[in-house]
Amino acid sequence: MQLLSSQITGFIENSSWIRKMFESGIALKKQYGADAVCDFSLGNPDVPAPAMIEDILTDLAKETNKPFTFGYMPNGGFPWARQIIADLVKKEQGVEITADDAVLTCGAAGAMNAFFRAVMEPGDEVLAVAPFFVEYGFYTSNHQATFRTVMSKPDTFELDVDAIDAAITPKTRALIINSPNNPTGAVYTKEELTELAAVLEKHTKANGRPVYLIADEPYRFLAFDGVEVPSILPLYDYAVVMSSFSKNLSMAGERVGYIALSPRMKDRGQLINGLMLTNRILGFVNPPVVGQHMLKAALDAQVDPSIYERRRDAMAKVLSNAGYDFHLPKGAFYFFPKAPGGDDVTFCNRLMEEKILAVPGTGFGGPGYFRLTFCVEEEVINRSAEGFKRAIESLA
Ligand code: PLP
Repeated sequence: MQLLSSQITGFIENSSWIRKMFESGIALKKQYGADAVCDFSLGNPDVPAPAMIEDILTDLAKETNKPFTFGYMPNGGFPWARQIIADLVKKEQGVEITADDAVLTCGAAGAMNAFFRAVMEPGDEVLAVAPFFVEYGFYTSNHQATFRTVMSKPDTFELDVDAIDAAITPKTRALIINSPNNPTGAVYTKEELTELAAVLEKHTKANGRPVYLIADEPYRFLAFDGVEVPSILPLYDYAVVMSSFSKNLSMAGERVGYIALSPRMKDRGQLINGLMLTNRILGFVNPPVVGQHMLKAALDAQVDPSIYERRRDAMAKVLSNAGYDFHLPKGAFYFFPKAPGGDDVTFCNRLMEEKILAVPGTGFGGPGYFRLTFCVEEEVINRSAEGFKRAIESLA
């Protein structure tokens, strides 16, 4: 009996190697104990959420006997939470936006799905800059659109604006950029983004409808060495920011995110209405009550980036001492080194023999590289040094 659709069956088959690696990781931990395995595979922040969340949860618990404490709310989120988002975006992006220009969503993932549901016609295309966050392709396919990628510049992973220009067609409805980037750690400069905005403006005019620029920014808070993460909303009429509090407040499981539109976008109320409808009809309805209260309590105490910076430096030392070829990440919590020997899947399997878990770049549209996440204690990074050395030396 065919229980699954052919599309989902295909997705599962195509990603079976990821599952196999994930299962092998679990088996390793079972065999040797979790402490013996250096797990750099998951971007699940291990730094605890801000301490004041405890107070807000205690206060909220006292309200449980009141009607509607955990009830439905408007589909765009609590009005006070939309105001919090407007204030945050104003500060981060340097634009005058109001609560009417932002919608709360179930994470950045829910934001992207609500957005695609609102704007895609059958057969439209979504372009993403590769290497890319693997879920983008799945989100696109949820909404009758085709997913295409454009490579960033080799090794530095900077934006290749000429390649993007050449890749856009009349069917292109949106381009996704992600800076600071998962998996490469790249942060795009204002010059790159300004050039990109000009190209998108040209295609929007030629196509007679917007080519949206989606800035997926859950790592905006995490840039190292004083690197600036430039604002995108002032640069382009059809720029849209999607983000969440999964990484900066370590509350990925609470599913609180948002979409904010450029105040340059004419008639944006239409799009906001559409997003509130799609939030509902996709079944999200509204983001969790508890998560929105947590956000209110914790926003000003987001995770200290210096913790991640120290880990980045420790990992850079481990990798360069062992002789790996990598670009130092400017932001986010990932390294994307070249896979010694060239085959990323083979090399990640070799690392597993050293009890080191990494993810092959193939899964991110970046074959020949592998991804390491530094959401782990520095001690784990340091402990992995010998294993990394042995793995690369065995290929020499
Ligand atoms: N975008 C990027 C680049 C990510 O790395 C992630 C999660 O890892 C997401 C979006 C989705 O995050 P969330 O839905 O938890 O906000």
